[in-house]
Amino acid sequence: MPRLTHEEILHWLREEDPSALEQLFARADEARRAHVGDDIHLRGLIEISSYCVRQCHYCGLRSARSMPRYRMSREEILAGARQAVELGFGTVVLQSGEDFGIEAEWLAEIIRTIKIETPLAITLSLGERRSGELRLWREAGADRYLLRFETSDPALYAAIHPQRGAVVSDRIALLRELRTLGYEIGSGVMVGIPGQTCEMLARDIELFESLDLDMVGIGPFLAHPDTPLGAPGVATAGPGQVPSSEWMVLKAVALTRLVCPEANLPSTTALATINTLDGREHGLQSGANVFMPVLTPAPYRQMYQIYPGKACIDEDATQCNHCLRDRIENLGRTVGTGPGGRFSRTPSQSVPTLRSQPRFTPQKDRPSPLVVLP
Ligand code: SAM
Repeated sequence: MPRLTHEEILHWLREEDPSALEQLFARADEARRAHVGDDIHLRGLIEISSYCVRQCHYCGLRSARSMPRYRMSREEILAGARQAVELGFGTVVLQSGEDFGIEAEWLAEIIRTIKIETPLAITLSLGERRSGELRLWREAGADRYLLRFETSDPALYAAIHPQRGAVVSDRIALLRELRTLGYEIGSGVMVGIPGQTCEMLARDIELFESLDLDMVGIGPFLAHPDTPLGAPGVATAGPGQVPSSEWMVLKAVALTRLVCPEANLPSTTALATINTLDGREHGLQSGANVFMPVLTPAPYRQMYQIYPGKACIDEDATQCNHCLRDRIENLGRTVGTGPGGRFSRTPSQSVPTLRSQPRFTPQKDRPSPLVVLP
């Protein structure tokens, strides 16, 4: 498939005609089918700690917020991994704020135990940790690492990520390092972060391609009222602001599928949050091939609110599993088995259903609340 040029990516990001967009989504869906098949992989997400040393201007976990925080015990994490196996998932994702209270050797022992006791692939998403820690966890058996670069624009990045003491944040360099350590690497961005323009988002998508990412997570920015970018009254966006709308997210997901055809792309919980009815399905019909159901124990979920109103937060893991499996089947797709990594795909063992959902027609977006940089 010929590479998309910068101008083509930009053109599609600015396109608003529903019938033209339907073609883009159909093209991405075809690329998804040709390169990663009909399987939807389920990754059980365990949010292991809400402590964070960072001050990201958009995130509900930022350390400046005074709120109850938690760090899960070894036994709770292992119980979550066992539940992932019982529910038929092939991967468990251990995510947290950037919490140096998660000690490297403590986590390495948990990773080794999960690898000995279960067939699960392990994805880590723990922020910017030190090289020695990342190496230790890889040697303990962790398979993948997720670290969104959030924006490829250095000025916007600096404006929304205050530096932590003398530590210089370079997530793109860290992703390259993670690759040399042998991890499958995942990154991504929020769509509609205040200050983001279509030019920037186009360059983000080109960076996904040049990093040859194995996983790309794309969701809408959702304003958190207790953060600098979500404070009430910081309303109305500047000129050229990308909206944090469903339609814009779907365009970015579809274009990402076209430039990274083999990557695993989740239909994100944030997308389901802005369209609780069928946002998840729209993601899967625009190039995505992964769901990440939350396995965090109920008492902790309310304390891991990176943005308010997170979809499905009140569902237990079993209900959520049934709901997602029904949604997958209703689309005529299959639930993937095995680890489902970019380099460890197993052909589907389930029988594909012939029932196939008519493609959705993009509707003009509802207006979204927008904010500008303070
Ligand atoms: N600490 C790890 C890190 O920084 O990569 C992982 C946890 S962090 C909460 C996971 C992701 O949540 C971030 O990469 C960011 O893209 C997303 N996120 C944070 N605040 C958000 C918001 N207000 N709206 C949408 N997504 C948000």
